[in-house]
Amino acid sequence: MTLTRKERSQGATQISILEEKALSLIKGRGDQGVPQSELWKLLGIDSRDGSRITLRLLKKGLITREPTTYNGKKTYILYYVQPRVSKALIKIDSIKDIPCFRCPYADRCGPGNFYNPETCVYLSQWLREAKDP
Ligand code: SF4
Repeated sequence: MTLTRKERSQGATQISILEEKALSLIKGRGDQGVPQSELWKLLGIDSRDGSRITLRLLKKGLITREPTTYNGKKTYILYYVQPRVSKALIKIDSIKDIPCFRCPYADRCGPGNFYNPETCVYLSQWLREAKDP
């Protein structure tokens, strides 16, 4: 099996079907990992295309590899990288209780207006509680 031109030209942020299959196989092996050459056979691709897929997955931080000897040949064992908890999610979680999100006056609130974030007791209270939980 050979990669299509479209698969070869995919950007670093996209993941191709073959990359997904490779990642799934690598993930399925857990701590044992998968030797590169074995992965190529499982995917039905040659080493040239296999190396491209590996490099893309490495570049995206989805896998790691360690040098090893497999069937008498030097190769790499590929390991799945567990995704880390996003700092953005933690930040979103910490602001989800901001009163402005459910405030009925939010569309009329602004500096100089009757409803004003600089004088709002609800926002001030939330800020105090967020600062001193
Ligand atoms: S600052 Fe106060 S009045 Fe303005 S939108 Fe937020 S909660 Fe509502």
